[in-house]
Amino acid sequence: MTSETNLRHTVVVVGGGAGGATVAALLLKQQPQLDVAVIEPAHTHWYQPAWTLVGAGAYDVKATGRPMKDCLPARATHIKARVTGFDPARQQVQLDDGRRVTYEQLVVATGLQLDWNKIDGLEATLGQNGVTSNYCHDLAPYTWECIRTFTGGNALFTQPAMPIKCAGAPQKILYMAADRFRSRNVAATLSFFTPGPSMFGVPFYAKALDKIVAEYGITPAFGHNLVAVDGPARRAVFEVKQGEQVSRVQRDFDLLHVVPPQSAPEVIKHSPLADASGWVAVDKHTLQHTTYKTVFGLGDCTTTPNSKTAAAVRSQAPVVVRNLLQSRADKPLDARYDGYASCPLTTSVGKIMLAEFAYDGVVTPSFPFDPRVPRRAYWWLKRSYLPPLYWGMLRGNLGLDWHKPRTFSETIPTLTA
Ligand code: FAD
Repeated sequence: MTSETNLRHTVVVVGGGAGGATVAALLLKQQPQLDVAVIEPAHTHWYQPAWTLVGAGAYDVKATGRPMKDCLPARATHIKARVTGFDPARQQVQLDDGRRVTYEQLVVATGLQLDWNKIDGLEATLGQNGVTSNYCHDLAPYTWECIRTFTGGNALFTQPAMPIKCAGAPQKILYMAADRFRSRNVAATLSFFTPGPSMFGVPFYAKALDKIVAEYGITPAFGHNLVAVDGPARRAVFEVKQGEQVSRVQRDFDLLHVVPPQSAPEVIKHSPLADASGWVAVDKHTLQHTTYKTVFGLGDCTTTPNSKTAAAVRSQAPVVVRNLLQSRADKPLDARYDGYASCPLTTSVGKIMLAEFAYDGVVTPSFPFDPRVPRRAYWWLKRSYLPPLYWGMLRGNLGLDWHKPRTFSETIPTLTA
């Protein structure tokens, strides 16, 4: 490649997923003449939050994907390539086709990577032998096939070490499977395996979820990390940590729903943008890079200690846009992200506990009702309202935002999944 083929844009956005597409749309909404380029190699943009419903037979997988070109703003330059390197000192990124792109400001929104290979034997058996995962669009329909055709036995559901995207997703499918089995009168032994010490990172919701788990008769196995799967033998191996002691246990299964370990994409891990953990190091409030002031980051790829969700992206995108434009004008960065995330926990097929919270586990519901109570209205919200809201967000239409800190009694209300 010669230098003539190299590119130069004022603002370069890496990744055209939830975060990248929304930031590009908002920037161009505010400054239509701004020269914005989005670097994104994928043909399809996926609405990942609906895969949970696909796995429970409550949503059509085809409705979760749209052509990428329809999800990026028409006024942005779409560079259909993959970024293979970051050179923030020179304000350049390297593309997989050999070109370099120079920028004045960079927004990094590459999402995270799914490390299927970190579980021995998993890749060889995914999509067969009753081994499935809602974390991939072409596997979520198999989850539903496994649940629909399940005739009884051991159903295991796993969660890897944090951080992962949508920390509630591993247990959402657990409850919906339990509900499906209950309504078909299938004798299922359900277990949930997590390396963590509780059902959820925010104690306010975790205590309520303990009641849902008990109502279904699910066995939670804390301190358990899935390390190997033998599909044909239908056997899963877990590493169990008790204090300093590490041992291994085996469990037989008839159905195994796996959530893979997750980490920052390799290109980020090996770049100057990453901190020791591998994620893009940004200030948790301004979302500006802690070292390179021309760089901002949002979504699943950053160090911010929020729950990695599209709901978080909805709150982060206007902060990135405001602060990036302020920094271009040499003005103080005055927009702050409060750590908001939302996790619609499908406690059954038809009801949702709408967990909303900000940094430090502060409970920040959008509505003035006790968010621990599973409600039918929230199921409608998740299935019928949030998908169009998401597609609108990619065009820069953020909708209303009512979340705020609210206090509720310590006593857990009466819950029915
Ligand atoms: P993504 O949307 O994943 O986009 C990243 C983009 O970057 C991709 O298009 C990718 O192709 C591109 N990219 C990657 N590497 C490169 C590169 N080197 N160069 C250029 N481009 C690159 N969130 C909720 O709010 N509520 C939910 O209920 C919910 N449920 C979920 C259930 C499941 C099963 C899953 C998997 C996710 C769920 N999420 C949920 C999480 C949500 O989908 C993500 O948090 C959100 O998509 C993150 O946005 P992002 O832009 O950071 O990453």
